[in-house]
Amino acid sequence: MSHTPLDPSSHEAVNHYIGQAADIIDLSDEVRRSLSTPSRELAVQVPVRLDNGELQILHGFRVQHNDSRGPYKGGIRYHPSVDLNEVRALASLMTWKTALVDLPFGGAKGGIEVDPTVMSVYEVERMTRRFTLMVADQLGPYRDIPAPDVNTDAQVMAWIMDEFSDINGYSPAVVTGKPLALGGAPGRESATGLGCVFVLEAFLEANHLDLIGKRVAIQGFGNVGRHMAWELFRRGAKVTAVSDVSGGVFNPGGLDIPQLSDHVRSGKLLNTADEGDHVTNDQLLGLGCDILAPAALGEVITGANAASINARVVLEAANYPVTPSGDVALRERGVTVIPDVLANAGGVTGSYFEWTQNIQQFTWKVERFNSELRDRLVTAFTDVNSFAKLHDCSLREAAYAIGLQRVSEATKLRGYLSGA
Ligand code: GLU
Repeated sequence: MSHTPLDPSSHEAVNHYIGQAADIIDLSDEVRRSLSTPSRELAVQVPVRLDNGELQILHGFRVQHNDSRGPYKGGIRYHPSVDLNEVRALASLMTWKTALVDLPFGGAKGGIEVDPTVMSVYEVERMTRRFTLMVADQLGPYRDIPAPDVNTDAQVMAWIMDEFSDINGYSPAVVTGKPLALGGAPGRESATGLGCVFVLEAFLEANHLDLIGKRVAIQGFGNVGRHMAWELFRRGAKVTAVSDVSGGVFNPGGLDIPQLSDHVRSGKLLNTADEGDHVTNDQLLGLGCDILAPAALGEVITGANAASINARVVLEAANYPVTPSGDVALRERGVTVIPDVLANAGGVTGSYFEWTQNIQQFTWKVERFNSELRDRLVTAFTDVNSFAKLHDCSLREAAYAIGLQRVSEATKLRGYLSGA
């Protein structure tokens, strides 16, 4: 992952955010030091035989940050930028996210340094199965539960579940985000994008504002961006821009999201869409709008480009899209940031509902799923907003502080730091 000279590595950056919040709640040095380091890191070799006979040796990781509140939980991503530092940062974010939404989980993240978009489905399957085998002894429904993330989906989760079940017996609860036919939950796929909208609505309501007519620019049109755009469109907001790897489209009057969704579902990229004006991903970030939602990769808003942001609110639908230097610059310009650990917590909250149904061998209707999702996220938003007001701090500082308080209490109660 590339860094501007203004920012530390992503793991140091997350520790910086932890430090800011720890100061507010006066967290002891011992707990701080413990929570700034993952409890376990696996770095594995993943040999993959390509369809043309060539052998690729890939690097795979699973970082388990903290499990004091429950089994480790977090996605697995396939991307060329994956490295141990990035996975450490993302694992830590999961700990604060699950604690903030009060889920009985800890935090973890995994990934393989690879570009799966240039691989065949057979190659991706072989890679997934080998990776699972290499980390399987640290996974389990009460140990560590992966989920989809960047470039992984329900099919990848099905292979992980199958491989793990071959060793341990039928175990649907070992992963979430599965296909519906294998114990996946109706509602899980849209949960991150819909959750972003629930959090945004709660934020607007707390500030006596209305979503209808608000101009929203979304960087990304994958699972998160697409569902978010759709839910915003349905509610009468104007989605003025969306993008994918090929670039974006912009229409100040609002894009036709159903048409763009059909375009992308038919396998085409947005640079061939017949809608609005074409913009680059960098240009999209600077478009004038009410809400800017980075919903793709991390570190897209930094001290180097924060001055060009023309939104009043940044909704962090992606993980770690704003670096510490970007965070300071946005704050100085009066832009409110709704932090990732709150904004995109709908995904892991939906995973919790799926896991709960799997271990109870019971199924919910999607209406129950979405209504419980809303309740959880609105409660988390209210907690964060009240804390921020009480302590006169940012929403990020408040979100981390609440997570830190909950995790440090559990860590202490379990006697983890007794050193025994
Ligand atoms: N990858 C998602 C996230 O970053 C979901 C994780 C999960 O459901 O475990 O929050």
